[in-house]
Amino acid sequence: MAVLNEALAKRQNISDEQRVNLQFLYKKLDNLIREEQLEERLSDKNVAKDYVRRMQNIEFQLQENWNFSKDPLCHTWWNSFDNCRCPKMDNNERFGHEKIHRQDCPFHGFESD
Ligand SMILES: [Zn+2]
Repeated sequence: MAVLNEALAKRQNISDEQRVNLQFLYKKLDNLIREEQLEERLSDKNVAKDYVRRMQNIEFQLQENWNFSKDPLCHTWWNSFDNCRCPKMDNNERFGHEKIHRQDCPFHGFESD
């Protein structure tokens, strides 16, 4: 079971139901990242795009259950894939403002947003 940030849980006033949902979502997130580590078809844009879509879906549900507004610029896991080449530190610095993509990233290199 994922350990939730209790201070944050209290501050965001999350319900018991949201707590259960969050446990489920972190498990799903973990599984997605593990699955990607074994994925051999990432050069296929549709396969890579599907991972991006699934990750985004989980992140929106996380925001919802943490009682945050659904903001794609405040996603924290999108560049956590093993094969993602987008910069970590630059993106941490620009958190909430913009996402910095690398063109040669199999997941985000062909995105325009
Ligand atoms: Zn990337």
